[in-house]
Amino acid sequence: MVASELGFSSHVMNYQYFNIDRNIKIIHQLHIARLHLYHLRQLAEEYPTQEICGLIGGTFGNDGIVFASAIYPIQNVAKNPKVAFRLDERQQIKALYEIMSMGLELVGIFHSHPFGPSRPSESDLRLCAYPQVVNCIIFPLQEDDVLLMPNCYQVEKMIIGAWQFVGTAHPVTLVAC
Ligand SMILES: [Zn+2]
Repeated sequence: MVASELGFSSHVMNYQYFNIDRNIKIIHQLHIARLHLYHLRQLAEEYPTQEICGLIGGTFGNDGIVFASAIYPIQNVAKNPKVAFRLDERQQIKALYEIMSMGLELVGIFHSHPFGPSRPSESDLRLCAYPQVVNCIIFPLQEDDVLLMPNCYQVEKMIIGAWQFVGTAHPVTLVAC
């Protein structure tokens, strides 16, 4: 089976893609267990000098609600993992098989910003391969982050934020359960 049959796209995708694709459903909420949020925090803390990354399996509900049910950490094979991430292709395919074999769908992708910014970067938007899913970014709490937005969840000194990349970064409310 080739990669395209698994439903994931090339990393080479640009803004125009979003502008012409009208089939992408806007996601309003990501329901995710605290256990998984803690897991994401733990992964980011284990690698304080490089971006961690992976996939999230789950289900798409009605009214733009997405339910996360499994986290799949994947090795970051970017040339400069300090400031970028690229999913190891073999592990990515394996994770997608596991997601499908459990009767789940790919609902999210995550990565960390160990050195900020505390929001999606310009290249996150530009290189986004999954505009139909939630993008979770884990970043350290900044001192000036006084008010947490509904799309952010704090675990001790780390924040997990959720967005959907649809031309712009659309905030997705995080519902921890
Ligand atoms: Zn990023």
